[in-house]
Formats: sequence, C-alpha cells, structure tokens
Amino acid sequence: MTDEMKRVVIVGSGDGGTFTANLLASKLRKEIKGGLVSVQLVGEHLLHPFQPGNLDIAFKGAVPDKYVRAETDLIRKGVEFIKDPAVKIDFSARSVATKSGRTLPYDYLVIATGAVADPSKIQGLAEGALNFHTGGADSRRVWEALQSFEGGTIVVAIAGTPHKCPPSPNEAAFMLDEFFQKRGTRGKVKIRFLTPYPRPYPAEKVSHVVEPMFQKKGIDVVTFFNVDSVDPAKHKIYSLEGEAFDYDLLIAVPPHHGADVIVNSGIGDQDGYVPTDKGTMRVVGQEGAYCIGDATTIPVSKSGVVAHLQSVVVAHNIIAEMNRAKGLLEYNGRINCPMEVGNHKGIFVSATYTSPPVDQSPSTVKYYMKRSFAMIYWRALGGGLERVFDVFFGQTRFPATEKEEPEKTAVAPVASQGGKREA
Ligand SMILES: Cc1cc2nc3c(=O)[nH]c(=O)nc-3n(C[C@H](O)[C@H](O)[C@H](O)COP(=O)(O)OP(=O)(O)OC[C@H]3O[C@@H](n4cnc5c(N)ncnc54)[C@H](O)[C@@H]3O)c2cc1C
Repeated sequence: MTDEMKRVVIVGSGDGGTFTANLLASKLRKEIKGGLVSVQLVGEHLLHPFQPGNLDIAFKGAVPDKYVRAETDLIRKGVEFIKDPAVKIDFSARSVATKSGRTLPYDYLVIATGAVADPSKIQGLAEGALNFHTGGADSRRVWEALQSFEGGTIVVAIAGTPHKCPPSPNEAAFMLDEFFQKRGTRGKVKIRFLTPYPRPYPAEKVSHVVEPMFQKKGIDVVTFFNVDSVDPAKHKIYSLEGEAFDYDLLIAVPPHHGADVIVNSGIGDQDGYVPTDKGTMRVVGQEGAYCIGDATTIPVSKSGVVAHLQSVVVAHNIIAEMNRAKGLLEYNGRINCPMEVGNHKGIFVSATYTSPPVDQSPSTVKYYMKRSFAMIYWRALGGGLERVFDVFFGQTRFPATEKEEPEKTAVAPVASQGGKREA
C-alpha cells in the first residue's frame, strides 16, 4: 500500500453496508489508525432495523422496537458514520454528494443502498393493502388488523418481483394459518395466495415442500397472477391476465425498485438496480466501485445472507486492490433463505450459481436455526461470527480464475478464507 491515504466510501448503512464497513475497519485497523485509510459509511437513518423481524411483528405481535438498534452502536471504531443521505454518485468524478451539500471523494466505493418496497407502483395497492415489507410500523398494522378479523377471506399477494426475502409471502400464509388455528377461528377464515409464478414457490424443489403443506392447511393457491390493480372500495384485486378476487383483508408484497440515489445518478438499470459482476461484485465497467446486496442486478435472492457473503468478497477485493494484489475473490452465488412453515417447523432455500435447491423436509431444528438468526444478527454485523458463518455456509467465495496469486501485500489478505468452488 502506498503512503497516500485511500478513501473508502460506503453508501447505505443497512445489513451489507454496515458489515462491509466493520470488516474493513477490523482488517485495516492499523492503516486506519496510521491515517493511510479512511472508511466512511453514509446512511439515511440513525436506527438500523433487523428486517426479518417484520414477520414476527406482523404475525406474532412482536413490538417493532425489539428489532431496531442505533447504528452508532453497531459500527466498529475506525468507521466514520455520516448520517446524511447520498443524493448523487458520480463515477467519473469518483465522488458521492450528500443531501447537506458535502462531497465525499473516494478511491473505493461500495454501493449498499438496498431495495425499496413501493406500494405506490400499483394502482390502489397503497390504499387497499397492508404489507410487512416497508418497515416495522406497517408490519404492526397487519397485526392490528388481525386482532379484529373475525372471519372472511384474507388474500396474500405477490405484487411484484424480485422482492426482498423470496420465502416471506409463503411464510406469511403459513403464519396466518397458525395465527387463526391458535385463536380457534381458522374455520371462519379463507386464505388465498396469489403468485405470478407457476407454482407456490418459484424453485420447483422448494415448491415440492410448500404445495402439499398449503393443500393440507387449506391455503388456496392461484398461480400466474400478475397484480394489475386493486380497488379498495370494492375490495377486489385484479390481474393482468384478467382474473379478479374479492378480499376482506389484503396483505401484499409491494413491487420493489432500487434506491432513488441510483435512479437519480443514472447508474442503474430500468428498475434502479446497479449492474454488478456476479463474481467480483464490481460495478460493471467502473474502476474501484463495488455493489452488494439488494442493490445489485444479480439474479439471486434479495436477502441479508447474500449481502453478508458478498460483503466478505468486497472487503477482500478492496484490500487486494489497495495492495495492488491480483488475488481477487469471487462470490459463488450462495443463498440461504429460511422459511417458517408453521407448527415450529422450517426449511432453508439453499443454492449456489451451480447447484439449485434440493429436496428436503421441514424440521424443528431448521425452525430454531431461523429464529436464532434474530439473536446473532447484531453480533454478525460486527464481524465477530465469521468462523461460524464459514462452517455453516461452507466455502462461499473462491479465487477469481483469471487472476494470479497476490503480490507481496502490506495488508493480510482474506484469501485464506477463500477456497474451492462449492460442489
Ligand atoms: C419481511 C422480510 C423478511 C426477511 N427475512 C430475511 C431472512 O429471513 N433472511 C435473510 O437473509 N434476509 C431476509 N430479509 C431480507 C434482508 O433484510 C435484506 O435482503 C437485507 O437487509 C439486504 O441488505 P442490504 O444491505 O442490501 O440492504 P438494506 O439492509 O435494506 O440496507 C440498505 C440501506 O441503504 C440505505 N440507503 C438507501 N438510499 C440511501 C441513500 N441515498 N443514502 C444513504 N443511504 C441510503 C437505506 O436507508 C438502508 O439503510 C427479509 C426482508 C424482509 C422485508
């Protein structure tokens, strides 16, 4: 590494952004202390939510505060947290402009601005439907609506893809079934699941588990239903295919898009996601710029686990670049999305770029593993659980094929954590 200060700017202080900042602060502790490296984390909010908690808030009555922590309590020493939303990312000037008028020049940029669930994209959806993708407060509204729901039809609809956490709409249906079972009113409630996919879960092997369970629990599935509009006055939901269903309560996964700053900077695709190399996580065609998590165009699940695994690759590659080393790592497409299927059972939707999900059975162990994520999330953000992650996820990153071994480096590379491609 040269004596010149290297500036890393990370935009977005959610799951991936916070974790990347902490990894860099941990691995570059001496360089940061010595003034050779700076790590700036640009965020919109002082509070950091654990988004999977929305399901518990909506369907189990957890209070939203349970799943929120102060961002300043989550970042390591050496990270400068700037609560000032980015308004423009300029690749050619290598800088980020913030709302208050600051310009943050960077040598290395990490875009971690996530995805935005936006009910306004579908006519009538914001007025006619509740959802658990736009935060704790909206999730709480689902819980409140369930308290006074005496009977009738609840429609759970996927109103746009891709969306955060692919299993979450299925989980919602399972959790609704469980809620009314426990209450003793399941017989008075019809649950209908509307999906644009040809089966209850997009991946066939996972659908093999979900479909018979939906049938057994009396959850009615309508496939190829692409939501066109909602009429809140008539309590009706319409599809592009010309179908319509009545509802008494509508819970919908809103369409998602990339963050405004991506759209306004003109650096995203038509949905505001950033074109990103699926291996190195570099922004396509841009020097020194990386993107992770929900913000990318990479067609894997928009999930925290993915953001986490990609952060490790990006932190490594930035350090390799700082050292002018050639040993870049690539992300292998590993996903691992838990799905609660009711009655204290769960499954995991696991795959890589080269190995699709396999057949599995719901188990209590998987259910409790899922529930333990909420407890370990905050610690994992600090980077202290990487060994556990490595054991659990196996090798999720491997050396980029065309690259040679790293040259002599001033900073210990994380390459030792990399390895062979997962089978
Ligand atoms: C109901 C639900 C259940 C889920 N369950 C799971 C699960 O079981 N397992 C799992 O792995 N994942 C789950 N997820 C998904 C997971 O929460 C996300 O995929 C994960 O948070 C993505 O991380 P990220 O860093 O890409 O984006 P986020 O964590 O969303 O962070 C993006 C950050 O960027 C900030 N930002 C946006 N624009 C700007 C700007 N202009 N300037 C500065 N900052 C900006 C945002 O404020 C936010 O803090 C679930 C999500 C939901 C909604």
